[in-house]
Amino acid sequence: MDEYIKQALEIVKAQAGVRPMTEEEMMSMVTKIATSLRGVAETGTIVEPGTETPPELHIDPKKAIKEKSVTCLECGKTFKVLTKKHLATHGLTPDEYREKYGYKKGTPLIAKSLSKARRRKMQEMQLWTKKGMKPGPV
Ligand SMILES: [Zn+2]
Repeated sequence: MDEYIKQALEIVKAQAGVRPMTEEEMMSMVTKIATSLRGVAETGTIVEPGTETPPELHIDPKKAIKEKSVTCLECGKTFKVLTKKHLATHGLTPDEYREKYGYKKGTPLIAKSLSKARRRKMQEMQLWTKKGMKPGPV
């Protein structure tokens, strides 16, 4: 179950103990609280005192993938390729990482210049397959 829904359920349960609520009221309250909890977690509007993250970690995910590097939004380190192995040290899979930071599914977690080179390579390979294995007259 979604951890925000779990948290919301706890809050609503506490509320229900204070005043009588219909099931419908409870459900809409759970949804409402879960949504706002998720919003807070994603935008980081509430910062608990003493747990502020260092400034270098306030990175815009859109700006994390640069021409020559990609920044890990978990620890702020920069890489050419943000590997599955590195993400595992944060307990995340690449898919979870993308979801957490709002990247589209399949976004390459590598420096832009590398992903361009990779795309070019793929296009070359596709051209090659279209031509077939026979080398044409050049
Ligand atoms: Zn990291």
